[in-house]
Amino acid sequence: MQKKIVIIGGGISGLATAYSLEEKAKREGKSVSITLLEKKNQIGGNILTERVGDFLIEGGPDCFLSEKPWAIELCERLGMGDSLLCTNDKFRKTYILWNGHLHELPEGVILMVPTEIFPLLKSNLISFSGKIRMGMELFIQKNKSNDDESLSQFVCRRLGQEALDKIAAPLVAGVHAEDPDTMSVKSRFPRFVQMEEEYGSLIKGMIAKRREMRRAGSKGNKPKYTMFMTLKDGLSEMPATIVRNLKSTEILTNREVLNIEKFLTSTPDTEKGMVSLPNYKISLKNGEVLDADTVVVATPSYETASLLTGIDDSISALLNKIPYTSTATVSLAFKKENISNPMNGFGFLVPRQEKRRITGATWVSRKFSYRSPDDSVLIRCFIGGSHNEKLVFLNDKDMIEMVKGELRDIMGITLEPLLTRIYRWERAMPQYTIGHEGRLSILDKKLSEYPGMFLTGSSYRGSGISECIKDGQITAESVLKYLFR
Ligand SMILES: Cc1cc2nc3c(=O)[nH]c(=O)nc-3n(C[C@H](O)[C@H](O)[C@H](O)COP(=O)(O)OP(=O)(O)OC[C@H]3O[C@@H](n4cnc5c(N)ncnc54)[C@H](O)[C@@H]3O)c2cc1C
Repeated sequence: MQKKIVIIGGGISGLATAYSLEEKAKREGKSVSITLLEKKNQIGGNILTERVGDFLIEGGPDCFLSEKPWAIELCERLGMGDSLLCTNDKFRKTYILWNGHLHELPEGVILMVPTEIFPLLKSNLISFSGKIRMGMELFIQKNKSNDDESLSQFVCRRLGQEALDKIAAPLVAGVHAEDPDTMSVKSRFPRFVQMEEEYGSLIKGMIAKRREMRRAGSKGNKPKYTMFMTLKDGLSEMPATIVRNLKSTEILTNREVLNIEKFLTSTPDTEKGMVSLPNYKISLKNGEVLDADTVVVATPSYETASLLTGIDDSISALLNKIPYTSTATVSLAFKKENISNPMNGFGFLVPRQEKRRITGATWVSRKFSYRSPDDSVLIRCFIGGSHNEKLVFLNDKDMIEMVKGELRDIMGITLEPLLTRIYRWERAMPQYTIGHEGRLSILDKKLSEYPGMFLTGSSYRGSGISECIKDGQITAESVLKYLFR
């Protein structure tokens, strides 16, 4: 009999799960029927590309990391290899606002770890004592305890306060909208914890990794991809192409799920006679009820908590312990000729100490081609996150005035924009706080009491697009293993 799988949530996690299920089932000659339920009238979740005249604007994510290969691999398998777009690396610089001025992040600083001595020595961002302190990382003993640490504790212990204030903290505020004082280093940056363990030093670990890459490069394997990758026509191409390639998945939009119930059905088994197997009943807001052998819940954890309240309150309570924060992106386009700032980079980050109202900005038309006409520039600013969440809910007029004021103060732009676009992301950024990994282990144990129910998505094991795809693939594998055991 054909096995029925219901996936709840049509973001990249739900879609990647569906696509991977079809791929694997086909390869293994198994027959499955998949229904994907999405509450909005369009699929893609946080991935949202808009074309406005000749401008291409990303409302949510704008790229993925090539180091985490799952997004690139999926694009290749979907036949989108030619659409993959590298960054314009002649502008590969990031600036940090400090004392009201933009300072270049020294070349060779990867994430927050310096790997080249001269650019660091020349930098006017880090003080002399700060540079010495960062260099001392080479000699600092590794952590003896296995306890989780906050990013602040970890960076201060290894690289010093200045590296935290001027590099690590603005980076995580800009990228993950997280508070470094509560963010779990084990869950967000597991490779730093591994590097400390393996090399005794982040600097040594990073240098070893660079050498490895150079060696690969000298053997003629010139890297095909840049650190950040996107798609020429915008990231929405990815969910759209997945949908076009799904053959045995029924996608139903405007279908909000209200709750999930478990019930047992008796099924004949060749060895054991009759056995009781769990089935799931999925109730929708429009009154429809669906039955499934397996349910994959790919919604944000607080939403999942509410769907599971009838099943197991202790699972819901655990899910509700994953906090979320809200952010907004505001894109503005200007005529290029009237902007004096050379915008020689991908953009800038703003440390909390600067007390500004944006956490950073991407100079989109520098970072990627095909984003704006040649005579214009496109800038995307980030608002909100753990420290300034209330700004996300300013009305449109105040929000635009605020962002224009910030760009005037930071970049000297006094022009009126050619266009503006605001995208608010309410409770869209999961926060992996200290102990996240431990809570996930408890959650997995509790979920084992509900065979046939799987949770995936950005709330758990990585919130970048690529990590969501990887988790979807792992989930698909577990689903098939369960159904055809
Ligand atoms: C502003 C912003 C910028 C980002 N930038 C980047 C970036 O540059 N690079 C990167 O890799 N990542 C980035 N991310 C993170 C990345 O976009 C997300 O982690 C990822 O898209 C999450 O995918 P998901 O499918 O897990 O969740 P979602 O995209 O949230 O999808 C969940 C889906 O479930 C649906 N749903 C919810 N409740 C129900 C219900 N009851 N019934 C039916 N459907 C329901 C929702 O409508 C939604 O479509 C960014 C995120 C944001 C918000």
